[in-house]
Amino acid sequence: TIDRTQREYSDAVKKALARKPQLYINGEWVDSSGGTTIDVEDPSNGKVISSFVEATDKDVDRAVAAARVAFDDGRWRNLPPVVREKTLHKIADLIEAHADELAELEAIDVGKPKGMASVVDVPGAANHFRYMAGWAGKINGDTLPPYSMPGNMMFAYTLKEPVGVCAQIVPWNFPLLMACLKIAPALAAGCTTVLKPAEQTSLTALRLADLIHEAGVPAGVVNIITGYGHTAGDRMVKHPDVDKVAFTGSTEIGKLINRNATEHLKKVTLELGGKSPVVVMPDVDVAETAPGVAGAIFFNSGQVCVAGSRLYAHKSVFDKVVEGMAATADFWAPRPSLDPAAHMGPVVSKEQHDRVLGYIEAGKRDGASVLMGGDAPSADGGYYINPTILTDVNPQMSVVREEIFGPVVVAQRFEDLNDVVKEANDTPYGLAAGVWTKDASAAVRIASQLKAGTVWVNCHAMIDPALPFGGYKESGLGHEQGRLGLEAYLETKSVLMKL
Ligand code: NAD
Repeated sequence: TIDRTQREYSDAVKKALARKPQLYINGEWVDSSGGTTIDVEDPSNGKVISSFVEATDKDVDRAVAAARVAFDDGRWRNLPPVVREKTLHKIADLIEAHADELAELEAIDVGKPKGMASVVDVPGAANHFRYMAGWAGKINGDTLPPYSMPGNMMFAYTLKEPVGVCAQIVPWNFPLLMACLKIAPALAAGCTTVLKPAEQTSLTALRLADLIHEAGVPAGVVNIITGYGHTAGDRMVKHPDVDKVAFTGSTEIGKLINRNATEHLKKVTLELGGKSPVVVMPDVDVAETAPGVAGAIFFNSGQVCVAGSRLYAHKSVFDKVVEGMAATADFWAPRPSLDPAAHMGPVVSKEQHDRVLGYIEAGKRDGASVLMGGDAPSADGGYYINPTILTDVNPQMSVVREEIFGPVVVAQRFEDLNDVVKEANDTPYGLAAGVWTKDASAAVRIASQLKAGTVWVNCHAMIDPALPFGGYKESGLGHEQGRLGLEAYLETKSVLMKL
């Protein structure tokens, strides 16, 4: 039996938890205009460990006003690009210098193993700043000879300009990483921003505000406010002084935000949900593939937008693959987030716990068989769910169609490659997909047939700042990361001068 007692927090973390609930607006920590706060819970034991501000409409207005002034007076966008570049590197340096504290904060806020946050979330956050830092000095338009006019009559060029004030809203599964994915390109482009982390997980975004301040980002350029989505988030999206909305979260809220933002024709980028298929071909090395496809779903307790939640294994290897996955049960057994042996922690909240277990029950009612897990281990107060494999499923079941966002995979066998591609694409989502095979031509062919923004071959959830990331279909609009991720924060202006 596993001891699920949460470990003691470090002194640095205790200090962060004891801070007064405030908002970071216009380069200062300020009190809210209201008096309400939201509790922070450690999902490893369900205990309340801190609280933060529930921002009011007035707070949002104040933050947007600060960002508006900071954009309009050019205090950031008109700095020499080398200064912006150095500042972004400084933020990355500070993230690295506080890596241990940030990893622990993320662990006790989200429930993810600290060891995982230390190798995935925190270095990823720093790398996004470093990658985008490099773009700050490489933003340029073109000179374009007009097509229908004599070349000696008209001189024409384009300018790339920052889009303006951004409202950035992120979810709870990778709070720090998502905040950095939003802030880094905005700063590289010369924009100013108001960012709101998710109400379940605001600790690292608040700590990030300290580091951004220390790095010398001018007042008002980055503002971090905490609070609920339907109040503060909604106000941000609809605010007349906001030029661009960047959102990561569920497809349901993404659609609502898109409607609200486009009402005023704001620029919008959306990174939404997924139900990503993983196709295992008959030629695979099962010993390598089974742990790989298990990791594709159980990493971060399955609370990953690109989680490989629908497995399609060829009938000749299906049994061996699912047996191999089931053999990883001990490795993925959920433990408290600060247990050094943890590879998987609890899910983020009671609500998520009930939701995931509800899906498992619905799957069973619909006739699915539980090959592994399917239940919650007893643990006083923690939101643990055992890694779960469901078989005997069909494409009509809710466990196959809907995003569960938990450690639950539905495993299906296939015979014919054309059928499996059709089934893999039979979803409103199109965020990511995986193919496992030794046959390079098959991999290339299937990768081109899958309707998904990212396809992994013989790996899963490998994310890199240089590679554009975005969803097909209902998984999103636009891209983050890479050059396209920067472009999402730029306007293009054509200038025509008569000679
Ligand atoms: P969510 O959509 O409920 O909330 C996300 C954020 O939106 C939170 O900060 C919330 O406060 C805010 N919000 C909620 N209602 C709002 C409103 N009416 N107006 C403005 N803001 C509002 O999502 P969640 O449950 O926090 O996160 C899980 C979802 O996020 C999953 O669907 C997952 O797939 C998706 N996700 C997608 C990506 C991606 O890059 N595509 C990455 C991570 C998570």
